[in-house]
Amino acid sequence: MYNIAAEQSIEEKLNILSDAAKYDVACTSSGVSRRGKKGYLGNSVAAGVCHSFAADGRCISLLKILMSNACVYDCKYCKNRVSNDVPRATFTPDEICTLTIEFYKRNYIEGLFLSSGVIRNPDYTMEKICETLRLLRTRYMFNGYIHVKTIPGASSELIYSAGLLADRISVNMEMPTQESLQNVAPNKSMQSILVPMNQITDTIAAHRLAQGKQARMERNGINDYLVDTIWNRADGRIGCDKDYSETNKMLSVSDSSFKYPAEQKDLKLKRDFAPGGQSTQMIIGAGNETDYQIIKTSQALYQRFDLKRVFYSGYIPVNDDAALPAIGTPVPLLREHRLYQTDWLLRFYGFDTEELFTKDNPFLDYRVDPKCNWALRHLEQFPVEINTASADMLLRVPGIGPNSVKRILECRRYGSINFAMLKKMRVVLKRAQYFITCNGSMLGTKLIDYDYIASRLIAEDREEVYAITDSGTCARQMNLFTDFNLATG
Ligand code: SF4
Repeated sequence: MYNIAAEQSIEEKLNILSDAAKYDVACTSSGVSRRGKKGYLGNSVAAGVCHSFAADGRCISLLKILMSNACVYDCKYCKNRVSNDVPRATFTPDEICTLTIEFYKRNYIEGLFLSSGVIRNPDYTMEKICETLRLLRTRYMFNGYIHVKTIPGASSELIYSAGLLADRISVNMEMPTQESLQNVAPNKSMQSILVPMNQITDTIAAHRLAQGKQARMERNGINDYLVDTIWNRADGRIGCDKDYSETNKMLSVSDSSFKYPAEQKDLKLKRDFAPGGQSTQMIIGAGNETDYQIIKTSQALYQRFDLKRVFYSGYIPVNDDAALPAIGTPVPLLREHRLYQTDWLLRFYGFDTEELFTKDNPFLDYRVDPKCNWALRHLEQFPVEINTASADMLLRVPGIGPNSVKRILECRRYGSINFAMLKKMRVVLKRAQYFITCNGSMLGTKLIDYDYIASRLIAEDREEVYAITDSGTCARQMNLFTDFNLATG
């Protein structure tokens, strides 16, 4: 059935299996070879190494491989599906440990991103993954970062075990709706994806509560002040739909006067369960879903499962299949980019999916970023006065982010703010100027006119749009994704 050479060296396997993993985007991957240079964050080395970001913002390099691409499933979008004739390879747990440790000792990597096709069945594959992680942690005493992908349909004990050994754990959503998933991944079901997601959410929450922390994980890139103002909104629009408040009270999480008895510190759990949280990935453009459906699904995932990230991966056609876009169809890179921006609005700006789309148009306007798009459709709410507007409203102004809002609110305590001060606070005035006043005055134009502002903002984004969609850039990106596949267990 498979094209497996009789004897494969570890290098040959690495070539096949690092290449097979590089299109899984749910690890914040780069997949490029590039030396570090001044002014840039992190660097990238040979194929099979990607980057992730620690909670403190540090860039960490990960060895990114599949355990096996000898998959028994037949996902239509995947190059490694069972019906394709491609070179196959499978690492043993020891081989993965050797590679990880040797790369680590040479300073190539600081961690491991491990996924796999389905070898025999989900439990068998997951057992092998767990064995690898256990060996790494206990025999090789590897204390580095590990991000592991679970196999849909694997038993809950194995997922629990993986979560205790890994830092981050993911279950790939693949498609935003049950219908499209059935259409392109006949061996997978929404249930086999959502059940483990739910288990991981509950287990992370249980471990956090047992350690005296809040059940929900904190968000990266947003300060505590805004976490309070955005995530704990009175209407509960964004937030886990489970109410842990009573449990928190019991554990005195929010009671600063509570003191643990001295001996209780020994009860501290040896390892957190998936301390880096869980993430997922959706393929964009393989089905007929609208942007509204995709973002609605993401919002539900953030609310219900407290996900750290939803990753969006623009579909690159690799298989000739009537259910999928034809080979040669352009990769929807701009759409992917706009979906990431929209996702940001859900997570850090307090937007709701229903606000970002109209009934008539379930797609984003890709010419401008989604926050500008929203503002253009709600010009009746602008301009807002910087010196008096609420934090919620300031966050909705294009060009003003959470950190700028915090600076504005702090600065307002000492006096009134003008445009020069906003510039120093890193407010992006080329966007914000159409939507704000400082002490009643606008910067430059006094026009609040849709056509005028839209044309300016579209012109402002033109360079970025061109950079994402022009053929030169696509060709460069395609080089990174040569022999694309979406192999992800
Ligand atoms: S996506 Fe994963 S499960 Fe599906 S065929 Fe590819 S490797 Fe197998």
